Amino acid sequence: MNKILVIEDDRVIRENILKLLKAEGYDVTGAENGAMGLNAAVSNLPDVILCDVMMPQLDGYGVLEALRSHPVTATVPFVFLTGKADRSEVRQGMELGADDYLTKPFTKAELVGAVSSRLKKQAALAKQQDNLRSQSNELLQEAADKLEQIKTNLCGALDRQEFQVYYQPQIDVQTGQIMSAEALVRWLHPEKGLISPAEFIPDAEATGFIVQLGEWVLQTACRQMQVWQNAGFSLEQIAVNLSPRQFYQPDLSSRVAEILAEIGLAPSSLELELTESMMVKDAESAIATLQQLKDLGISISIDDFGTGYSSLSYLTQYPFDVLKIDRCFITNITDGCANAAIVKAIIEMAHSLCLEVIAEGVETEAERDFLWRYECDAMQGYLFSPPVPAVDFEELLVSGK
Ligand code: C2E
Ligand code: CA
Ligand code: CA
Repeated sequence: MNKILVIEDDRVIRENILKLLKAEGYDVTGAENGAMGLNAAVSNLPDVILCDVMMPQLDGYGVLEALRSHPVTATVPFVFLTGKADRSEVRQGMELGADDYLTKPFTKAELVGAVSSRLKKQAALAKQQDNLRSQSNELLQEAADKLEQIKTNLCGALDRQEFQVYYQPQIDVQTGQIMSAEALVRWLHPEKGLISPAEFIPDAEATGFIVQLGEWVLQTACRQMQVWQNAGFSLEQIAVNLSPRQFYQPDLSSRVAEILAEIGLAPSSLELELTESMMVKDAESAIATLQQLKDLGISISIDDFGTGYSSLSYLTQYPFDVLKIDRCFITNITDGCANAAIVKAIIEMAHSLCLEVIAEGVETEAERDFLWRYECDAMQGYLFSPPVPAVDFEELLVSGK
């Protein structure tokens, strides 16, 4: 049964309206002044409010304003009752958010018509909202199903051993010798072939699967490093990328320590690569996690430097060991463009902060010569080798290129 609240200080008019509406089958409540009307509106939440404009103390406009600013009653249909068809009075009420008005004296048909048309409109609105809600629920469900499907595919790929770790050498700029390697994951899809991490890492991150995948990459790379060290190759470090989700795992440092202990690899042989954007989310806990990793003896490198926030204060606040200059600054470095000045400045600044500098994406001899001249420590790029499978990396180590 629809509830109608009538706020009217004139007892005769109020009771008349209540009687008429009750006869029409509505559940009616009366209030004899504005304040009582407001209380009744908030506690009963009527479907329509009829309210007189002219009342002592809190008048109809005041009631309407209070109702519209209260979250519970903000959208309840409001019809005000005016004593005369005063255009300015009507206009003021409509501007305050009234839905309709009735001019006294009105007929029974006018009263019932105004109430029922408000109720119909409100029902149509409610239906529309219901539709919207169920549509957006459907969309949310679809998105959740899609993510679940992606996660299932990725988990299946890990079980079927479709992921592989490739290694890219990091070269000492001064000697030209391989110093270290960066581990980069690949997906060897049975139908689609080799899939770049740029394609599936974002999905792995969004689904949370990255935690599992990242741990597998870390284990695989550390085991491989151990094999190479046992074979007598003088590799200093293996660098492994960490994603934001992995970085914010509460047990990250103890998990990394466990993996190193299981494999028997010295923590000083491991370097973890992080990006600046990962540090901004929660600086305090980021510094604490970095310190725990450093305390284990692991090196920390800041990846893609220059592309993110690049706040210089990060470099002094966070316990980094290595700074990797992003590829975009190395490209065209010899064309006399601004990149040359930026790279020179980054190398100088990093060295004065006792950070080692690695240049990424070195593709030409001219770029290498530039880095040599400005005393960059290490470089990585297609000039020397793209990321390759472990067997091919071993050939690079053997040939001692
Ligand atoms: P990144 O860490 O900045 O890795 C360097 C990317 O540059 C690699 O792309 C590498 O193949 C590419 N690259 C290296 N040298 C050159 C060059 O001379 N020229 C050009 N044009 N590109 C070069 P890749 O392997 O496709 O990896 C893309 C990104 O995916 C990585 O960027 C890293 O953010 C992410 N990623 C890769 N493996 C992992 C992983 O195991 N875990 C996580 N969390 N992220 C990973
Ligand atoms: Ca990296
Ligand atoms: Ca990078």
